Amino acid sequence: LKQVYSFTEGNAQMKSTLGGKGANLAEMTRRGLPVPPGFTISTDACLAYFQSGNQITAELEAGIHMALSELEQKTGLVLGNPERPLLVSVRSGSVNSMPGMMDTILNLGLNDETAEALSNLTGKPAFAFDCYRRFIQMFGNVVLGIESHYFESLLIKLKRKHGWSNDQEVTADGWKQLIGDYKQCIKRMAPIDFPQDVKEQLRMAVEAVFRSWNNERAKVYRKIHQIPDSQGTAVNVQIMVFGNKGADCGTGVVFTRNPSTGEKRLFGEYLTNAQGEDVVAGVRTPLPISALADEMPDVYNQLVQSAEQLELHYKDMQDIEFTVEHGKLYLLQTRNGKRNAQAALKIAVDLVKEGILTKEESLQRIEVSHLDQLLHRGLDEDAVTELLGTGLPASPGAAVGQVVFDADTAVEWSQSGKKVILARPETTPEDIHGLLVSEAVITSRGGMTSHAAVVARGMGKPCISGCEEARIVPDDKKFTIGQRTIEEGDWVTVDGASGRFFAGIVPLKEAEMTPELLQMLVWADEVRDLKVYANADNPQDAEIARKFGAEGIGLCRTEHMFFAPERLAVIQRMILADRTEARIEALQELLPMQRSDFEGIFRQMAGLPVTIRLLDPPLHEFLPKLPELEHRLAQIASDAGAAAEETELRRMIRKVHELHESNPMLGHRGCRLGIVYPEIYEMQVEAIFQAAAAVMDEGTSVYPEVMIPLVGHAGELQVLRSLVDDVGQRILGTHKGKCAYKVGTMIEVPRAALTAKQIAPYADFFSFGTNDLTQMTLGYSRDDAEGKFLSHYLDQKLLPHNPFEVLDTEGVGQLVEMAVTNGRAVKPQLKTGICGEHGGDQESIFFCHQIGLDYVSCSPYRIPLARIAAAQASV
Ligand code: ADP
Ligand code: MG
Ligand code: MG
Repeated sequence: LKQVYSFTEGNAQMKSTLGGKGANLAEMTRRGLPVPPGFTISTDACLAYFQSGNQITAELEAGIHMALSELEQKTGLVLGNPERPLLVSVRSGSVNSMPGMMDTILNLGLNDETAEALSNLTGKPAFAFDCYRRFIQMFGNVVLGIESHYFESLLIKLKRKHGWSNDQEVTADGWKQLIGDYKQCIKRMAPIDFPQDVKEQLRMAVEAVFRSWNNERAKVYRKIHQIPDSQGTAVNVQIMVFGNKGADCGTGVVFTRNPSTGEKRLFGEYLTNAQGEDVVAGVRTPLPISALADEMPDVYNQLVQSAEQLELHYKDMQDIEFTVEHGKLYLLQTRNGKRNAQAALKIAVDLVKEGILTKEESLQRIEVSHLDQLLHRGLDEDAVTELLGTGLPASPGAAVGQVVFDADTAVEWSQSGKKVILARPETTPEDIHGLLVSEAVITSRGGMTSHAAVVARGMGKPCISGCEEARIVPDDKKFTIGQRTIEEGDWVTVDGASGRFFAGIVPLKEAEMTPELLQMLVWADEVRDLKVYANADNPQDAEIARKFGAEGIGLCRTEHMFFAPERLAVIQRMILADRTEARIEALQELLPMQRSDFEGIFRQMAGLPVTIRLLDPPLHEFLPKLPELEHRLAQIASDAGAAAEETELRRMIRKVHELHESNPMLGHRGCRLGIVYPEIYEMQVEAIFQAAAAVMDEGTSVYPEVMIPLVGHAGELQVLRSLVDDVGQRILGTHKGKCAYKVGTMIEVPRAALTAKQIAPYADFFSFGTNDLTQMTLGYSRDDAEGKFLSHYLDQKLLPHNPFEVLDTEGVGQLVEMAVTNGRAVKPQLKTGICGEHGGDQESIFFCHQIGLDYVSCSPYRIPLARIAAAQASV
C-alpha cells in the first residue's frame, strides 16, 4: 500500500488519504499554481503507525526516503548538506480542517552546520539564525512538548538585555546567543540534546504530528465537531520558502470574499518580513491586503488571479495562505473559507447569480449553524450605553455578560448559570473550553484571522479582536481602557458586527430576515417536498410563525392557555370539583376564554390547517406544589378571620394527595383524561368549533384539526373521535358543510405505532409526538436523563446524539416508519407529520423526508431552518 505521495501525484478528491491540506496542495500543483514542492505522508501511514504501537514502519521509512530523494533531485538541495541545505516544513493535515488543533514545524533541516551554510549562502546571518532559533523553538514545543513560554521569556530577556524593542532589531549574534539558551533549555527540560542529525529531526517531527492526533485539544475539537477518531492525520513535508528574508518578502492570509459580509473582494492581511504564523499569532498587527497592491503590485495582481482561479475551480470562497520570497508569490494552502452566516448566505446566493452554482447546489451549502447565527441578535442602537472601546469586528452577533479573564473561570461561572464574556490579550487552542461556554470574546491583540476570530466565527459567537487600546491583564483580573478599569464580574455588552463594546447591559434586538435569506428560502420552497408547520400555542406565536413561512400549525398546546392567573383559578376550581355538575360549571367559565384564543389563532392562520391538541398534562400540574400549600396553611392557621380560606387550602391539599402519582408521565394524562372526564374534552372541542364558526362568519376559511394525545389503543381514539364528531354535529350546524375539520391522533406511545393498522381507521392524521415517543421507546425520562446519565452516554459514545435533539432513527425512527406504512396501507390519504423537538433538527428532517411524511412542525424561529433542511433533503 502506497503511504507517501508527491504533491504531483495527488488531487483534491484524495482528501481521506492526503488530508484536506495535502489534497489541495496536490490539486494546486496540478493546476500549475506556484506551490513549493513536497510530499504527503498519508492518513493510512498514520493509522499504521498507531497500529504498530507508535512505531514508524520499515515500509513508511522507505517511502519517506524515496520521496525525499525525489525532492532533493527536483530542487538540487539536500537535507543536512552543508553546501546546499534543504529546509522543509512539516505540516499536519487532517481530513476535516481542524484549525489550530495541530502544530506546524518550519525550517526543519537546520543544525549548527546548515545554519552557518544558510547564513553564508544568503549573506543574511540575522535571517539565518532567526530561522534556526525559530526551528529550535517550534521543535522544542511541538516535538518535545516544552511549553512555549519558556522560549518566549528567554527571548524577552535577550531583547531587554540589549535594549531591543522588537524582533527585527535582533542581530545575528543576538540570535546565536538565544540559540545557545534554547539548547540549554531543551537539555534541561526534555531532557535530551537538541538533535543535530537532520534525518532524526524529520523522523521525530513526523511522529509528533502523528501523535498530535491524540492530544487533548484535538480530541475535544473532534468531539465538538463529530469527527471520527479513526481518521488519523496526514503529514505534509514541503520545501521552505521564506517570507522573512527582507522587505520584499512577506506572508499572509486572504479570503476570496469577505468572510463577514460576503462582499466579493479580496479580503485579508499580511506582514512584510515575517514567517509562518506571525500573522495569526497576533504578535504584530498586520496590514490589510489592499496595502499589498501599493507595496508589491505584481505580487498583488498575481494573488488576485490565483484567488479567482481557485474560487472558480472549487466553486466556493477560498481561504488562502501565501508567502512572498524576494517578490515571488507562493501559495501554501487553500481551503473553503470559514464564514459567518450573513456571508455564507450572500456568497451562496451570489454564486448562483454569477452562474457558478445551481440553486440546488447552493442550497446544499447552507449550514444549519449559519441559519442559527443569522437568526441571531444585534444591539438596540437607540439604547447603547457608555462606549468602552472598539476593536476589529471579527465575528458578528451581540451578547451581554460578565467579564472573566481566563478559560477556567469562564467554565466555572457558566456552570453556575452566569453569562460570561471572555477577555484575553489573545487566545490559543488551550482556551477552547473557555470560548465554548462564553457569550462572546474580546482580545487586545491579533487580527481578523487570529485564533479567537476564527474559532468564534466557527462557533457563531460574537468576537472583537485586536482591540489594542485595551490593556487586558489576566493576572490582575482586570483590564484598563483609557481612564476606565473593568474588573472581573463587571457587565459588558459586545457587538461583534461593529467591533464595539459597551459598559453595562445594552438591550439586544432579535435578528431580521436578510434579502439573501429570503431568496434562499424562495429557492428552498421551490424544491422541497415536506411542508413546514409551526408549533404555536397562541395568536402571537401564530403571527410570528406565519411571518417565517409556516404553512399551518402542527401543534397548538391548549394547556398553555390555562396558565394565566385568572384562568388558573378557574381550572383549579374545575379540578377541585367533587361533582360533575360543579366541574361543568367551571368548564363553562373556561369555554369563552379558550374560544377567543382559538378565534385569534384561526384568524392568523386564515386558510391554513391548525392542529389543536386536547388537554394533555396530568391535572396536578395545574395545582400548587404541596410544600407551598402547607406553607400557606401554616401562615394563616393562627389567623382567626381566615377560616374559609383554610378550608379551601385543606381541600386543595387533599386533592394534591389524591392526584399524586409515582410516574406522572406514565400516569393519568392525555386521552386518559378525556376518557375519565369527557366533559373536559367536550368543552375544548366546543370552544374549537364555536371559534371556527365565528371566524368563518367573518369570511375566513378555517381548517381545524383536532388531535387526541397519548392514544395507545384504537378503542381510545374510537370513543374520543365520536365525542368530537358529536360536538361538531351539535355546534357546527349549518357550517358543517364548509368546515372540513379533521380528527387525528398523536402517535407517541409505542403501542400506537405498533397497532397503527387498527388506529388508522379512526384517524384522519397521525402526528408523531417524538418527545414522548423517544422517552417511552428508550425508557428515558426526558426531564431526568439529561442531568443524570445522558452526558456519560454521549461521552462514552454509547449514543451518537442526544436522542431528544436528534431523532434516534434506528430505534424510534423504525416505529415512525412502520406506523406510516401500516397506517397508509389502511388509509392511503392519511396525513402524517412530526411535531416533537426533532421537527426543527436537520438530520431528523432528512429522515422525515426519507420516510415520506407530509410535514414537520417546529418552533416558529426554526421554520426558516426547517424549510432549508427540507429542501436539502429533496435535492
Ligand atoms: P495550520 O494548519 O495551523 O494553518 P500550516 O501547516 O498551514 O498550519 O502552517 C502554518 C503556516 O506556516 C503557513 O500558513 C505558512 O505561513 C507557514 N508555512 C508552512 N509551510 C511552509 C513552507 N513550506 N514555507 C514557508 N512557510 C510555510
Ligand atoms: Mg497552526
Ligand atoms: Mg494553514
